[in-house]
Parts: sequence; structure tokens; C-alpha cells
Amino acid sequence: MTQQFCCPGCLSQKTELDREVHGYRIYLCGNCELAFTFPRPTLQEVADFYHGLNLTDGLYGGQKPFKQAFFALCNKEITKRVTSGKLLDFGCGDGGFLRQCDPQHFQLYGADLHPGVGALCRQQPIEFFTGANVETSLPDAFFDVIFSAATYEHFLDPIEVTKQLVRALKPGGILMLVSIPNYHSLNIKLAIEDWLINRPPAHINFFTLGSLQRLLQQEGLKVLQCWTYGFNLEPVRRRLQRVAADTPVKELVEHGGNTRLAGGDPQKPGPHHRLLARLYYKFPFFELGDKLAVIVRKPSS
Ligand SMILES: [Zn+2]
Repeated sequence: MTQQFCCPGCLSQKTELDREVHGYRIYLCGNCELAFTFPRPTLQEVADFYHGLNLTDGLYGGQKPFKQAFFALCNKEITKRVTSGKLLDFGCGDGGFLRQCDPQHFQLYGADLHPGVGALCRQQPIEFFTGANVETSLPDAFFDVIFSAATYEHFLDPIEVTKQLVRALKPGGILMLVSIPNYHSLNIKLAIEDWLINRPPAHINFFTLGSLQRLLQQEGLKVLQCWTYGFNLEPVRRRLQRVAADTPVKELVEHGGNTRLAGGDPQKPGPHHRLLARLYYKFPFFELGDKLAVIVRKPSS
């Protein structure tokens, strides 16, 4: 089947080749500023990649003390606006974010295309939606909050996923997206980025503050807050360790964190983890941070 060559963020055909990384071509949309790889991987290739990942507690680093402290800050951002109701983590992975949420005030839900996620959160009162195209199985106008970390860079069809999330939100509900790689980051501008994880079949969309807001506004969402944060030292570390360009993305994702948990309860974040997370998340990176964050609201009527 031939794929239609158009921007996955706005369907414009006004695109031009922006760069080539490890044999993958990245095009830039002249209309909405989204960069994207083409040809796109197939749905099957994407599913095979995620289902092939060895799902352990260490996989997404979600239980590391720093990540816990980071997710706690995200949760605080949400509770400034919504203090109770139904909360979904879309692309919940190992449940790292949901563990930072208060089950006394929120009914917690997780969604992920990996069918194994439910097994990771047995002790918690969390309900799961899993499988390919999991967004289509979410109920209508059901959630007060949808949170999603590090997902939009992966979607074959970010417009369709956004439509489904808007459908699943209650009127007036909040959508918070974080940890989406910023195509205008300092790492990319200074050519520090090594494009080892930032490539297909993992990353296929490269958003900026502009292209992300535009996509969300296109679906009727009102932007409440939008910023960039963080500086990613991983490409520097990989360059120093001379990680080869042909290293499979699977290997980098599974072992890239370099820290494996020894089992048992994850270590709780200490004051230094919390301070580091605050600096990482709150420092003004002047739109050059490594990651994008946005909070939007679905209109009440
Ligand atoms: Zn576009």
C-alpha cells in the first residue's frame, strides 16, 4: 500500500526534506512546523516494536527516584486545576505516573498498547485499557483528566489520536502532555543530538511548541499553558561511550537508562531528587528545552 505523503499534523503537502539521520528522512511541514519521518513505519512494525520490548520495572525508568519526583511535579500541576474525578494516563507504561496520583481523590485509569501493563500495578486500584488502537476503546466524555507522557512522538496518526482523546474527555476536562521531544531543542540546534533513540520505529514525529499547540487547537482544545523544559545528557553520554549508530533502538530503550532496579520496592525520592526534578522541570529554558509540555482544556460546551 502506498502511503500518502502529507504532514501527519495538519495534512498539508507543503513539506520539504529537513535532514537525514541514520538513513531516515525527516521532512518539515511548511504549514504547521511539524517535522516527521517518511516513509512511515507500518502499524504492524510499530506494534511489533512495542510488544517486543522487555517490560520490566526499569524499562521506562518510571520508578527511579528522579522520575518519581518529576511525575509528582506533573501531578501537582494537574491538581492545581482539577482535584477529583476520573484520571487516565494514556500510554501509562510501567504506571510510574499513576503511582504519584492520589487514589483517595481520583479514580485511576491506565491505557497502553502493551498488553502487559496491568501486571505491573497489581497492588493499586487502577483500571486498564490495552491493545493496538487503544484510544478507540476509551469511553465517551468520561475522563476529567487525561495525562500522557512521551507519546506524541510515536503516533502514526497524531490527529486521529487527538480526536479520540478529545472524545474521551468530559466537557471542561483537562489534557496534559509532557516529555514530547522538542525539535527546537538546544541539543538539536547544537548538533549534540545523536538521533539514536530519536528515530523510527520509536520516534516518528518531531514537535515544537508551535506545531503541538496548533494540532491541539485544530481539535478545539484551548491552550492553558505550554513550555519547554530539561536538558538531555543521554546523547552526550552515548557519544562519550561511542555507542554505534547501528545499535537497535530496542536495546537503547531497554538499557539506555543504565540503571536497573534490584527488585522490591522502588527507592523513594530524596530532597536532592526533588530539587533536581524541580530544576529540570521549572528552569526557564527559553523554548530550547529538550522536552515539550502543554496543558489544554476541552471547552465546556
Ligand atoms: Zn503540518
